[in-house]
Amino acid sequence: MDRGNRTYLLHFEKPIGRKQSNGARERYGLSKRKRNTWTPTAQHYVGSTDDLARRIGEHERGRSSAARFTQAAKREGILFRVVRVLRGGTDTEYEIKRRKNSKKQCPVCNPNVKLSSKDLTQSEIDSELIPF
Ligand SMILES: [Zn+2]
Repeated sequence: MDRGNRTYLLHFEKPIGRKQSNGARERYGLSKRKRNTWTPTAQHYVGSTDDLARRIGEHERGRSSAARFTQAAKREGILFRVVRVLRGGTDTEYEIKRRKNSKKQCPVCNPNVKLSSKDLTQSEIDSELIPF
């Protein structure tokens, strides 16, 4: 079904980190002894698509067509939730990204977030993610 373009915000249950090699640790001036510590990075992802269910499926499977970010999460066993979906494609995506701090845009991290008139309701999101 053609519903038009959508912009979505993914919230990951914890920050996506990656293990540092010793070389990288030296470059960043970190101790070699704490070898298995993780470097926390981002906990959110903003993207846009013309087929929400298909795109989220790609992210969930961590396939090569999915963003490298969700591939990394998949490898680390970190789950994500689709926390916002807005009407509109790349224009809306850039609008959200321009506001920088994704954490403030996320209703899980910031329960006081002001939703936009472009935001879909939770039941609209559910029905687009599970198409009949
Ligand atoms: Zn969040």
